[in-house]
Amino acid sequence: MTPSLIDPFQRAITYLRVSVTDRCDFRCVYCMSENMSFLPKKELLTLEELDRMCSTFVGLGVQKLRITGGEPLVRRDIMTFFRSMSRHLETGALKELTLTTNGSQLERFASELKAAGVNRINVSLDTLDDEKFARITRWGRLAQVLKGIDAAQSAGLRVKINAVALKGFNEDELFTLTDWCASRDMDLTWIEVMPMGDLGNEDRIGQYWSLKDLRRDLGQRYTLTDLAERTGGPARYVRLEETGQKIGFITPLTHNFCESCNRVRLTCTGELYMCLGQEDMADLRKPMRDFPNNDAPLVEAIRAAISLKPKGHDFDYSRQRADGQVSRHMSHTGG
Ligand code: SAM
Ligand code: SF4
Repeated sequence: MTPSLIDPFQRAITYLRVSVTDRCDFRCVYCMSENMSFLPKKELLTLEELDRMCSTFVGLGVQKLRITGGEPLVRRDIMTFFRSMSRHLETGALKELTLTTNGSQLERFASELKAAGVNRINVSLDTLDDEKFARITRWGRLAQVLKGIDAAQSAGLRVKINAVALKGFNEDELFTLTDWCASRDMDLTWIEVMPMGDLGNEDRIGQYWSLKDLRRDLGQRYTLTDLAERTGGPARYVRLEETGQKIGFITPLTHNFCESCNRVRLTCTGELYMCLGQEDMADLRKPMRDFPNNDAPLVEAIRAAISLKPKGHDFDYSRQRADGQVSRHMSHTGG
């Protein structure tokens, strides 16, 4: 299908990230405060509404869906949604259905995900140390996540690890994490910590660790070869010649990746964010709920939103403060 969602900068929008819940069984310090208040249920799109929304996007040329949250696997009956999305994989309209998860529920759901047509998943894991894991996630337990990763690999899912780079927290695990991923045939992507929301933890744990420094340190042990691969997102990749592994760097703050941006983000309440770093959004829930039997107003609202997609974001650490900070939490827009 030729993509039909083209933004004002001639970027084809083929990638939708969907947050299916704002809830989570962890409380990662850089993502949530300890006492989060969550949205009332009626605000959330139902599973049927999520299906209708995603199917409309697929009809408009979206080829890749990434399900996220909050923690997507804590949403009740979420497997119903995955199973129902697999029909778009079968027709070929959708090329990839995937998710980003903290891994806590994978032991339970890995086989069902695979059966629904999910082939690759991202698991977020910042440390391999039990005590540090409990400290950074507050409520998480490392052993449970490791079992989840085992289950995912046994089910035939390809796992990529995402780690947030935090100075004074996981700097000393650069090689341990790399080697552990290599030993399990997993790629590893480092994410620069982003200024999201006012969590009040900024001084308590983890500071901004520049991926430029991380990359330099990695280069002292391994031979890094730049890969041309681009996903239309903020990630850049290298291959470690010694292990064959792919290492990604997501640097929204130090690099501008906006010119190739192919994605938009849908929140669990049906707001469409055209850019992770901007406050602009469009409410898609209203045109959908107001017209239960007619998708035309929803399609029109999606097209109108895409026509407003901004050229880029304004994150900037260069002035020693988090300029361009947006007030919503990552768990709201779905990372
Ligand atoms: N709960 C799932 C998980 O943790 O993978 C999915 C949602 S989570 C919001 C998506 C990703 O955002 C995770 O990899 C997490 O580490 C990352 N993240 C959360 N807050 C962040 C922040 N302030 N800066 C950078 N990455 C962040
Ligand atoms: Fe939950 Fe993911 Fe946020 Fe951690 S990063 S609190 S696991 S949503």
